[in-house]
Amino acid sequence: MSVSLVWFRRDLRLSDNPALTLAKSRGKPIICLFNLDSARVRRQDVDPIHIEWELDCLRTLKSDIESIGGVLLFSYGDIIEKIEEIHHTHKIAAIYGNEETGLQWSWDRDKAVAKWCESQGVKFSESPTNGVIRRLKSRDNWKRQRDSRMEVSVIEPITQIVAPDGLNSDHIPTITELGMIARPLAHRPNPGESAAIEVLQSFLEERGRTYRKGMSSPISAQTACSRLSPYISIGCISIRQILDYSNRKARIVQRNPRSKQNLGWTGSLSSFRSRLAWHCHFIQRLEAEVTLDHLAMNPEIDKHMARTIDGAKFRAWAQGNTGWPFFDACMRSLSATGWINFRMRAMLQSVASYTLWLPWQLTGLHLARLFLDYEPGIHWSQVQMQSGVTGINSVRAYSISKQSRDQDPEGHFIREWVDELSHVPTSHIHEPWLMSQDEQKKYGCMIGVDYPKPIVDEKISRKEGISRSYSAKSQPDSKNRSKVVYHLHGSRKRRRS
Ligand SMILES: Cc1cc2nc3c(=O)[nH]c(=O)nc-3n(C[C@H](O)[C@H](O)[C@H](O)COP(=O)(O)OP(=O)(O)OC[C@H]3O[C@@H](n4cnc5c(N)ncnc54)[C@H](O)[C@@H]3O)c2cc1C
Repeated sequence: MSVSLVWFRRDLRLSDNPALTLAKSRGKPIICLFNLDSARVRRQDVDPIHIEWELDCLRTLKSDIESIGGVLLFSYGDIIEKIEEIHHTHKIAAIYGNEETGLQWSWDRDKAVAKWCESQGVKFSESPTNGVIRRLKSRDNWKRQRDSRMEVSVIEPITQIVAPDGLNSDHIPTITELGMIARPLAHRPNPGESAAIEVLQSFLEERGRTYRKGMSSPISAQTACSRLSPYISIGCISIRQILDYSNRKARIVQRNPRSKQNLGWTGSLSSFRSRLAWHCHFIQRLEAEVTLDHLAMNPEIDKHMARTIDGAKFRAWAQGNTGWPFFDACMRSLSATGWINFRMRAMLQSVASYTLWLPWQLTGLHLARLFLDYEPGIHWSQVQMQSGVTGINSVRAYSISKQSRDQDPEGHFIREWVDELSHVPTSHIHEPWLMSQDEQKKYGCMIGVDYPKPIVDEKISRKEGISRSYSAKSQPDSKNRSKVVYHLHGSRKRRRS
C-alpha cells in the first residue's frame, strides 16, 4: 500500500497546517518527514543558533505527532536521497508540503523535488499558509488577495494520524550530535507550538497593552513586543492564527474601548496588526526577487554608492566595539540574546551603511546570523531599505546620539551591556569620550584603553553618508529603476510620486 508523505520545512506545527490536513483527507497512511539540508547548514547566513532552535522545536513537534499516532522521520543531508529511500520502502503516492518563500537555494531544492516527483509519477502539492501570493500578477492586487487569505478560518489541528505499520520515529539529534558547536543564548524562548501560543496569549492578555508606546526602546520592547518572531520564522505558529487571536481581542476591546481594562489596546492592536501585514508584504518581495541577499532592488543606486569593505570598521561594528555606548549595547545585547527590537535593528544596519559606509551584503549577513528569528524575506528587504538601495524608500540614517538619549536616557541599557561603562554617571554615559582624564580615572574607564574612542566622528560621517546617498538616488538611471522597483515591490498605500 502506498503512503502520503508530509514534508515539514518551516511549518513546525499541527494547527493551521494545510499540508497535513490535505494528506489526512487522502486516507492513506502518513509519513511525516523533516530533512535538515546539509547544503543550507553550510551557508553563510546560517548560524548554530538557528539549527539548535529548529531541532528543539522539531522535538516538540515529534512528540505532538506521536501523541496522535504519527511518526516523524528525521534526516540530515539531501532531501532527494531521503525521499528516494522512503519511496523504495513505502512507495510514496503524494508529497504534501506548505509553500516556503526563501532564497535561491530553497527554490532550487523545491524545484528538484518537483522534478523528482514528476519523473516518478508522484503527486507534489504545496499549500499557501500566509499572505504571500505565489505567481502574483501585479502588486496592485496584493492587498486584496492577502486580506482574503487572512479571512479564511484557521484550520483545526488533526486529531489522528495513521502511520505505516512497524515504522517508528527517528531520534532528533542535538546540535552536538550533528557535529556542530552550539552558541548558547541568554533568555532563549521555550521551543514549540504550545510555547508559541502561550507567548501570544501573554501578549494579548497584558504585555501588548503598551505595544505602541513601548516598541521603540530596547528596554520596554522586551516585554511590550509580542516576541513571536522566532516562532513565526520556523512556523510554530501561523500569521493567520495570530491574526485570529488578535481579531478576537479587538472585538472585545471595541465593545468598551474607554474602559480601564481596555486602555491602550485600540492603538496597540492596530499597530500590531499592521506589522502582521508587513510580514507578508516584505516576504512578497523575496517571492518576486530571490536575489535580495546579494543584488540591490535598485542596482544603479548601489553602484553609484560604491560602498567599500573596511576590515577595522566592520570588526568594530560587528563586535559592538565602536566606542558609541548605545550602539555597542545594542549589538552586544543582540549577540547574547538573539533578539532586539525593530528600531534598534534599523539603527544597527543604517549605522553600518550610512555612517560607516560598509557594503550591506556583508553587514546583512552578520545580522542574519545573530537574529534567532532570521526570516530572509523580511531581513533582506529591511537591510536594503535601511541602506537606501531600494530607491522607493526615504533615506533614513539613524543617529546613535539621538536614539541613545531618546531610548535610554538614564543609560540603564548601556550599563547592562557595556560593562566597561558600568560606573560612568548618566551625565557622561552617552558620550564618555568627552570625560576629562580625571573623570575617566574616577569612573574606572580610560577611553582608548578600557573602552574604545568612537571609530569615526558620527556627526560628520553620517552627514557624508546621507549626502552621498541622495546623490546616488538622484542619478537619472537610479530614478528610472526606482519606477520599476515601485511597480514590482512598492506598498500601494503610498501615493505615487
Ligand atoms: C535590518 C532589519 C532586519 C530584520 N530582520 C528580521 C528577520 O530576520 N526576521 C524577522 O522576523 N523580522 C526582522 N525584522 C523586523 C522586526 O524587527 C522584527 O520582526 C521584530 O523586531 C520581531 O520582534 P517581535 O516578534 O516581538 O515583533 P512584533 O513587533 O511583536 O511584531 C509581530 C510580528 O510582525 C512582524 N513584523 C514586525 N515588524 C516588522 C517589520 N518591520 N517588517 C516585517 N515584519 C514585521 C514579524 O513577523 C513580527 O514577529 C528586521 C528589521 C530590520 C530593521
